[in-house]
Amino acid sequence: MLSKKKTLLAFERMKKMYPDARGELNAETPFQYLIAVILSAQATDVSVNKATPGLFALYPTPRALARADENLVREKIKTIGLYKTKTKNIMRTAQAVETEFNGEIPETIKELMTLPGVGQKTANVVAGDVFNVPAIAVDTHVERVSKRLRICPKKASVKEVEEALMNKIPEDEWVLAHHTIILFGRYHCTARSPKCENCPLLDLCLEGEQILKKINQ
Ligand code: SF4
Repeated sequence: MLSKKKTLLAFERMKKMYPDARGELNAETPFQYLIAVILSAQATDVSVNKATPGLFALYPTPRALARADENLVREKIKTIGLYKTKTKNIMRTAQAVETEFNGEIPETIKELMTLPGVGQKTANVVAGDVFNVPAIAVDTHVERVSKRLRICPKKASVKEVEEALMNKIPEDEWVLAHHTIILFGRYHCTARSPKCENCPLLDLCLEGEQILKKINQ
């Protein structure tokens, strides 16, 4: 397993590659950011950013979205994967924010997770990015990179990946780590063709060595 010291070294090198790492979803208010994050589950940020300007122009607030026509909302986000379920979730979330939280999105991970369609990952992203709550959201990129680098065991659950990262990275860097590792996984250590041959982390990465051996066989 990669030690804490080497995990920090790997993180430092990722930070050099992506010095301005932050979320790539567009939104003008905390509520809109919450909706964008819900919509991004199992969909690309690019597809969400294409659909949300039209959605937010019509329904910019929890109140407006809570009272929207469901068919119109569905039409606005139909280019995003799982749009039918997501239509219901974002409308129910808007209703809950309106009625249970007085129109303001809640600040704690626990409260955020009471909203429809908001699981641990979405709650961590929103709490971290909007309210600076220390949290590491584990998405597919964070999970893959953490496992390839052996920051956690290959068979670790999402919760175990999160715990391993939280143990090895200082709390005040959790939010940055989340965004940095996502960019590293999205553009460099990709699922199908990781760029191991010119990876600044190769000397720290057991899986990278194995991948290169296979390529050179
Ligand atoms: Fe990913 Fe390859 Fe770099 Fe390892 S060496 S972190 S597998 S790109």
